[in-house]
Amino acid sequence: MKKDLSNIKKAKYLLDYNHCVAIPTETVYGLAANAYSNKATSKIFKLKKRPKSNPLIVHYFRIRDLKEDCELNNNFHKLYNKFCPGPITFVLKLKKKSKISKNVTNGKNTLAVRFPKNSVTRSLLSFLKYPLAAPSANIYTQLSPISKKDVREEFGKKIKFILDGGVSKVGLESTIIDLVNKPQVLRLGGIDIRKISKVLKRKLNYTKNKSIKVPGQSKFHYSPGIPIRLNVKKRHSDEAFVLIHKRKEFDKNYFYLSKNKNLKEAGKNLYKTLRKIKRLKFKKIAVEKIPNIGLGRTINDRLKRASKR
Ligand code: AMP
Ligand code: MG
Repeated sequence: MKKDLSNIKKAKYLLDYNHCVAIPTETVYGLAANAYSNKATSKIFKLKKRPKSNPLIVHYFRIRDLKEDCELNNNFHKLYNKFCPGPITFVLKLKKKSKISKNVTNGKNTLAVRFPKNSVTRSLLSFLKYPLAAPSANIYTQLSPISKKDVREEFGKKIKFILDGGVSKVGLESTIIDLVNKPQVLRLGGIDIRKISKVLKRKLNYTKNKSIKVPGQSKFHYSPGIPIRLNVKKRHSDEAFVLIHKRKEFDKNYFYLSKNKNLKEAGKNLYKTLRKIKRLKFKKIAVEKIPNIGLGRTINDRLKRASKR
């Protein structure tokens, strides 16, 4: 996607004046505001209808800027070198002198941080004098947006500006890893935790129930607002049927996540497919079994939460 400098400057202008702007990232589109400003960050919660108790992820351009706000450690450097910029979020200890707004952390002494890869957003970050707090640009518990059009569908005219950076390349939220003490996975996401385990040279497990209760971990989330049945072998005639690989026979109610069981491709297509089904006004969704390995685990995690009522 070609960088349009005038749009990046417009986004900077609005952010400098404490407005929220939607920004493209490789995971999903974010609803961004100056992370140092109480006024700006409080607007994020209001727009998203997100409970104030749910902390936000803060987006940085480079390590030098992050050092102002967080204590860095060896595990952070190892993972940064391997995966950043990219779809991984680190929970780190907040420095006492940090200017991060209390709204962002909900008063905690830890901060979730990330280095997004999308080149339009990286260019924007490079012009700013502050990092950006940015949760996904959707109404709380709804489907995450992966394009400018999706964000507009979520918020209508309620947000002043959406910076276009093309369709999100990963299409799933970041993997969150807590590095304050012993590394712990808090949310499955765009990077396979086996790859993270390899870099840290230790086995990482993900057990949902043990982790802190925060939005990505709440049971009901990422939902298209339509009942979903999982691990389905045979769909009912009124259901949209989501399949992991393309079939030979034609059926207008079939939706394919991948041509050939490619889980990366399936991850990228997940929210797009669910949104498409919603737009087509289906009342029920059935999903066939998705292999529970690598990014398949992230896909299953999102589908399980989306299917909770
Ligand atoms: P979202 O930005 O909507 O994708 O969600 C932000 C996620 O960041 C939440 O689901 C939390 O799991 C996580 N998070 C943010 N701040 C913290 C923190 N200080 N400690 C632990 N998790 C956090
Ligand atoms: Mg979200």
